[in-house]
Amino acid sequence: MKYDLAIIGGGPAGLMAAHRASELSRKVILIEKNPRLGVKLLITGGGRCNLTHNIPDYRLMAESFGKDGRFLLSAFSRFGVTEIIAFFENRGVKLKTENDNKVFPVSDSANDILRILVNGIRENGGLIQTSSEVKDFVLEDHKIQKIILTNGQEISANNFLIATGGLSYSGTGSSGDGYRWLKEFGHTIKPLSPALTPILVKEKFVKDLEGLSLENVILNLFYKNKKIATEQGPIIFTAAGLSGPAALNISRHIDFQFAQNFRIEIVLQPGKTLEDIDKEVLKLVSASNKFLKNSLEGMLPSRIVELVLFLSGIDQERMANSLSKVERKSLAPIISNVNLNVKSIEGFNRAMITRGGVDLKEVDSRTMCSKIISNLFLAGEILDLAGPTGGYNLQLSWSTGWVTGSTVIT
Ligand SMILES: Cc1cc2nc3c(=O)[nH]c(=O)nc-3n(C[C@H](O)[C@H](O)[C@H](O)COP(=O)(O)OP(=O)(O)OC[C@H]3O[C@@H](n4cnc5c(N)ncnc54)[C@H](O)[C@@H]3O)c2cc1C
Repeated sequence: MKYDLAIIGGGPAGLMAAHRASELSRKVILIEKNPRLGVKLLITGGGRCNLTHNIPDYRLMAESFGKDGRFLLSAFSRFGVTEIIAFFENRGVKLKTENDNKVFPVSDSANDILRILVNGIRENGGLIQTSSEVKDFVLEDHKIQKIILTNGQEISANNFLIATGGLSYSGTGSSGDGYRWLKEFGHTIKPLSPALTPILVKEKFVKDLEGLSLENVILNLFYKNKKIATEQGPIIFTAAGLSGPAALNISRHIDFQFAQNFRIEIVLQPGKTLEDIDKEVLKLVSASNKFLKNSLEGMLPSRIVELVLFLSGIDQERMANSLSKVERKSLAPIISNVNLNVKSIEGFNRAMITRGGVDLKEVDSRTMCSKIISNLFLAGEILDLAGPTGGYNLQLSWSTGWVTGSTVIT
């Protein structure tokens, strides 16, 4: 039996490719090393599966991936947010868009998403083989002839898709096999680093802020004092640093190996100038017969006030109206920006995705076909793309998987 398409990896990218190709009557086999399909998919969004981000404009969606997002323009324009929402809704899964534009099944169950894909592949006549680990490839004339499983089984196909994911949460099955094979085939693998992961900082005082969440701050990331990225949104202080959407998103730009060269500036009062902040402080402290700490709570959460006063060296037990002009003016810059020096970022065991991967220059963005091996396709997280948190990364897998499934011919 020779298949039209043999897919390695039963995650979102492989499943969508198998669904699409089998829908187009291609002879498909999906090979997954775990006994179950979509193990990582089932833990997405805390088990609720944030399957996409409701930005129907595919250009904006692609821009969220930074300059590399250009690679996704073709895939997103053909099978983007509108199409994935229709895909699941037309198959009976009701979806909801929450306030922050994240899309989930109404049931809050990732299982409903997985079930539709698996049932669809089977109904379309696709073959699914679980507990099957691909070990090796047989190549001839820059084409893959067959793959060999650890149990010795050989599978021949006209086309192959490597959708083995990244390196994060390796217990789910994504242990980096694909990168190793692709390197051997001559592909360039851009340096791999954990991303969408909590950030650890050098300043010990964050421990006192543990658990404090701030709804809307700006984070500016500096590499050797050059600003390289900005994110706006919620953060939460952890015992050793920062987490929450804005912190996770900015972690995509921190190189694991050189993390210590990065600094984060937290802009606590976005949109306000130093002058605005000083005026506000003046209003709160002048003629106030409260303790300084209590007065400043009129503009900041109490734990942040404590931090600001700690950093300023001003005793929080001072009466607000006893501040000198010089002391008062020293507060605005601290309220405006809290600087934290990065110590490290959490590793692959805490990262939602992997930054780096197959060099996009070596993949045709209209087909997902490798430019090095003519019958090889690449889809999902294995590609050198890293989207923000909020459904973008699953959309990347759906779109690139669908394009692969649409391209393969009999
Ligand atoms: C905790 C967590 C929560 C997340 N939440 C979200 C979210 O809510 N929204 C979002 O957009 N993204 C989320 N993500 C990211 C998202 O899960 C990934 O981007 C996505 O799963 C990548 O899909 P993929 O198909 O490329 O790879 P994977 O899902 O990693 O699938 C790859 C598959 O290949 C199989 N495989 C590997 N090697 C072999 C081999 N040798 N032989 C056979 N099979 C093999 C693996 O077992 C695995 O099943 C989350 C990630 C994590 C870790």
